[in-house]
Amino acid sequence: MAPSLSPASRAAALRDLGASELDLLVIGGGITGAGIARDAALRGVRTGLVEAVDFAAGTSSRSSKLIHGGIRYLQQGDIALVREAATERAVLRRIAPHLAEPLLMVMPTYRMASHLKLRTGLFMFERVAPVDAGDRHQMWDRAEALKEEPLLSAQGLYGAGTFTEYLTDDARLVLANVQGAHASGALVANHAEVVSLEAGRATVRDTLTGETYRVRARVVVNAAGPWVDELRRRAGASGGRRLQLTKGIHLVVPHARLPVTHSVIMTASDKRSIFVVPRDGMTYIGTTDTFYPDAVLVPEVTRADADYLLEATNRTFRGVAIATADVTGTWSGLRPLLAEEGKSPSEISRKDETMVDAATGLVSIAGGKLTAYRRMAERIVDLVGERLGRRLAPCTTSDVPLPGGEAPAPALPGGLAPHEQSRLRRLYGGHCARLLARDASGACVDGLPGILRVEIEHAIDEEMALTLEDVLERRTRALLFDAGQGLGGVAATAAIMARRLGWDDARTAQEIDRYRSLAAGLRSFA
Ligand SMILES: Cc1cc2nc3c(=O)[nH]c(=O)nc-3n(C[C@H](O)[C@H](O)[C@H](O)COP(=O)(O)OP(=O)(O)OC[C@H]3O[C@@H](n4cnc5c(N)ncnc54)[C@H](O)[C@@H]3O)c2cc1C
Repeated sequence: MAPSLSPASRAAALRDLGASELDLLVIGGGITGAGIARDAALRGVRTGLVEAVDFAAGTSSRSSKLIHGGIRYLQQGDIALVREAATERAVLRRIAPHLAEPLLMVMPTYRMASHLKLRTGLFMFERVAPVDAGDRHQMWDRAEALKEEPLLSAQGLYGAGTFTEYLTDDARLVLANVQGAHASGALVANHAEVVSLEAGRATVRDTLTGETYRVRARVVVNAAGPWVDELRRRAGASGGRRLQLTKGIHLVVPHARLPVTHSVIMTASDKRSIFVVPRDGMTYIGTTDTFYPDAVLVPEVTRADADYLLEATNRTFRGVAIATADVTGTWSGLRPLLAEEGKSPSEISRKDETMVDAATGLVSIAGGKLTAYRRMAERIVDLVGERLGRRLAPCTTSDVPLPGGEAPAPALPGGLAPHEQSRLRRLYGGHCARLLARDASGACVDGLPGILRVEIEHAIDEEMALTLEDVLERRTRALLFDAGQGLGGVAATAAIMARRLGWDDARTAQEIDRYRSLAAGLRSFA
């Protein structure tokens, strides 16, 4: 059994990070950093991974949660990116089936010409990309489209094209990589910020205690997502392309208010494609793509952002009339893209780029997608091997299952509703067995129907959750997909955490206040 990612393992990692020189220090525990750390550790590289806030606290918990086949890149003529995305989603399906669940995407068409164009595009995609026979596209005529997706507005509808993408849970995908890195010997710590950086030397501050640690590493990889430029500045690393951040937001409404059967792609007022996705008793709507000036953890959701998504939703579906008052939660994130002069946000390439600063040796990586993280990590670790002057063991991440992906989920307590069971399977995969080993009764947290009490204990003992936000936002996803943003269970969750982590009353109250104000911010529109 893999060793636990626990508060004790974090304390040991912080202590050991400074004990002797590492081969590799990875800064940033989003999907990029977590993927690199796991690959490197599996190949025998002595690796440290530090994350300033919590694993996936940045962009990697705020994506659309889709493992894309890359159809969009076909429109941009980037065949290599299409092939990579489609290949990588097949890999993820193999190494972590719970984190890549097939999701039928329905794209309504409103004219014969666009219907035929879509058919040609989907046909071309399947010639270029590896697509399983069962996942091949279908074209529906108007009657079929209305029968299969009855919520579609019939007005002007010609038909629809369908294809399969995969639904993931972004924060849990990151966590599985961090757990895998830890299991292979990497020293990993969240709430550990790099506050200064010179060639091969970093000062890491434990943001929970204020203590600092000096870390030496032969190679340092800057995987700080939207903060890549800030870290380069901190390190005195110049040169290479700059980042251009773009913001994307999502709105969540109860599924009963937007009862779609499938994920449906809509055309926004500016002709961009946006979509709705049913998940865990809710439906989410995404996403926007607008320039954003600064790297911040929680970019605001404006009324204009919400109106943009709701206008298309209310036009595409009949009789729904969704208003901002129906929105139970939102999330927003920043895409760490590489600046391209004169291009609109949606035109900027999603390709990743590696930049090595000649003077400091700092390796920075930016751009990319959740979908292709594994290949991106493989390339970076190959580069790390070159810089270490060592022939590394071959990359094995396309075959070694991610933690939770080793075995299917066991039978779950019958008292849970089907969508509650599918939520548990998606978040934990085979690790559901570990949850049930603590208590098989399926008892839920007071005030949080569908969320097991043992999930909170498991998050602390085996997933290094140290704050209320770590548990409710990124481990259980209650902040996003519970209709009450997890607020109904805040006191009960805090009580479990206080007992296990030794919080006093003041710390417990502070955690609750912080969580409440985070949730309130995500319900108000700037
Ligand atoms: C709205 C939106 C929708 C998207 N949808 C999809 C999708 O459906 N599918 C897909 O494949 N991709 C999608 N993406 C893209 C994908 O989410 C990103 O490419 C990816 O998450 C970026 O990960 P990252 O690890 O590079 O950055 P991040 O996840 O931001 O990680 C960087 C980490 O570095 C940490 N950090 C910063 N400074 C320091 C420091 N000094 N010390 C220590 N740590 C530090 C931060 O706290 C952060 O956690 C989407 C992106 C957005 C914004």
